[in-house]
Amino acid sequence: MINKAVCFSSTVLMLIFVSAYANAREIKVSGIFEQGGFIIGQVDKTINNVKVNGEDKHISNEGKFVIGIGRDYDGEIKITTKDEKKIIPIAKREWGIQRINGLKKDKVTPSKESIKRIEKEFSYIRNARKEILYNNYFANGFINPIKDGQVSGEFGNQRILNGEAKNPHSGTDIAAPAGTDIMASGDGIVSLSQTDLFYTGNVVMINHGLGLQTIYAHMDKVDVKVGQKVKKGQKIGTVGATGRATGPHLHFGSSVDNVKFDPMNLMQGNLFGVK
Ligand SMILES: [Zn+2]
Repeated sequence: MINKAVCFSSTVLMLIFVSAYANAREIKVSGIFEQGGFIIGQVDKTINNVKVNGEDKHISNEGKFVIGIGRDYDGEIKITTKDEKKIIPIAKREWGIQRINGLKKDKVTPSKESIKRIEKEFSYIRNARKEILYNNYFANGFINPIKDGQVSGEFGNQRILNGEAKNPHSGTDIAAPAGTDIMASGDGIVSLSQTDLFYTGNVVMINHGLGLQTIYAHMDKVDVKVGQKVKKGQKIGTVGATGRATGPHLHFGSSVDNVKFDPMNLMQGNLFGVK
């Protein structure tokens, strides 16, 4: 199942990876143009306004921007500048179903008290996502945050927790023994470092620039602080089972602004060097 998914993605990648370099003022894009994918865009640096589906995008001084494509995105993405319009069709993906049993009842159907706590804790994550850095930290690419981990839960799976249908999985679960090193997937600035959150337990977020962030949840030890600069491959903590988890694993997620996409796509070839 997992191998099949990886193969499928590489095939799709070969088929739909597009890079256009015609004239200097053209909108150039690379990425994975499917549900759960993302787009790295480049416009001439003299252009200071890019719209995606009619909304302003954050762009760096070099004219780069990033678009996340959600699990259920339907249709095309329209990128416009004052000179040009580019339409990118987005391919559909099929999503699996994952059943997890043995979770504590309150972690599946939280009490009123827990809901209050959850709402407050979500605001930490939302606020971290709002911070925009106009840097291209992401341009250095991404690696798997765990060296020899096994994917135990894919992005986008419909979750059935203790028999109840819940939200789709927002990241990739990577199982590894407790205490295994977790590395920063890419260069960036730590935007969140919290312990003991209801769902995510001990959790770190890294801001890679222009709205692109990664999240690392259920950690045991956390070795980094908010505002700290980290390099790709640098240890940020260890694998644990804190928060809503049935065993030691890393929940690894990625987002652009509030759109979550498949973090395994970050590691598909060199899609970041749109120079
Ligand atoms: Zn997870």
